[in-house]
Amino acid sequence: MPEQDFSEKKPVEHFQFECKQCGFEMDHEIGHNSLVCQSCGSVEPIEINKFNIFHATPYESTVLNLLQSEPNDTRHHVRCDTCGAGFDFAENVHADECPFCDSNIVVPVGLQRQLEPDAVLPFDIKEEQANDSFRKWISGLWFAPNSLKRLAIRKHPIKGTYIPYWGFDANTYSQYTGQRGTNYTTTVTVRVNGKTQTRVVTKIRWRPVSGDVSHEFDNVLVPASELLSKKLTTSMQKWDLEKSQKYNPKYLSGYRSELYQVGLPRGYEHGKSIMQKVIRRLVRRDIGGDHQRISSVDTRYTRVGYKLMLMPLWVSAFLYNKKTFQFIINGQTGEVKGERPYSWIKIASLVLLIVSAVGTIIYLNK
Ligand SMILES: [Zn+2]
Ligand SMILES: [Zn+2]
Repeated sequence: MPEQDFSEKKPVEHFQFECKQCGFEMDHEIGHNSLVCQSCGSVEPIEINKFNIFHATPYESTVLNLLQSEPNDTRHHVRCDTCGAGFDFAENVHADECPFCDSNIVVPVGLQRQLEPDAVLPFDIKEEQANDSFRKWISGLWFAPNSLKRLAIRKHPIKGTYIPYWGFDANTYSQYTGQRGTNYTTTVTVRVNGKTQTRVVTKIRWRPVSGDVSHEFDNVLVPASELLSKKLTTSMQKWDLEKSQKYNPKYLSGYRSELYQVGLPRGYEHGKSIMQKVIRRLVRRDIGGDHQRISSVDTRYTRVGYKLMLMPLWVSAFLYNKKTFQFIINGQTGEVKGERPYSWIKIASLVLLIVSAVGTIIYLNK
């Protein structure tokens, strides 16, 4: 019997979508429900299978059935069908290009994560448009160093990436206690330079209050990626969810796609903290008056459901003063969210300008 070599990594099953006309690779065609051949241009439609964004999977029963709530880091070993090279994908990535021949490779999700994406939002915006959006964003930044604006002229390597997001639905019922503050005016006497003067001042009268508010949440979005800055991915909130399609690996051909790294329970905790912010706003409105104080909020969550969605982002970073700044561009709308450096010289000179302007006004009024 031949000895087995255990040092050889076993390549995973994967998809590589090939053109029926010429055998070359096919990419998802941006803005269309189709694959397009990168060589002969022939088009193959992707069967339209709209995802109902109001359909969620019950949360509790899913969590109970999970073997493990937090996923392990995964690194896929892939053997490319086109050039035969074996290589490793980056950690927690399940779709990317072959580093040797640029062929598009998609590894099915079911192999490493128990939960498959429910939906995918296909890319609508092309790389050039994404680059334009970035240039406009960077040149419109306030207090940015001038050398940063010069950076905008350059073309940045930018990567079309699907980032997993959890979307949570829930009905909430919250009981609260707090205080309502009402303004009233009163006259007080003060002594200025030895003379008695009367003045009208505004004061607040506080009264204890309690009550309840209900709310129905739909698609509270929580990023499930840890490779990108969570601040950036959380702030990207404007998506046209109506364009969601049921998950189909064909949409991923030509892009990088990440596996979720934030498990369902951890994602739900983040989702609840987002819901609590909305609930506290509702409580303040319910308390009314001129001022509000919240002492306690007790929330019951019912009909909790989730969906796992892949969102299209153009992802890049720029190096400035030896520091890396990430930026992401919404692959549907072109909206840009980015980390950015500030020019302290510009801020300081503005402050000086304001101070001197105020000084001039005071001087003129004398
Ligand atoms: Zn072809
Ligand atoms: Zn290859």
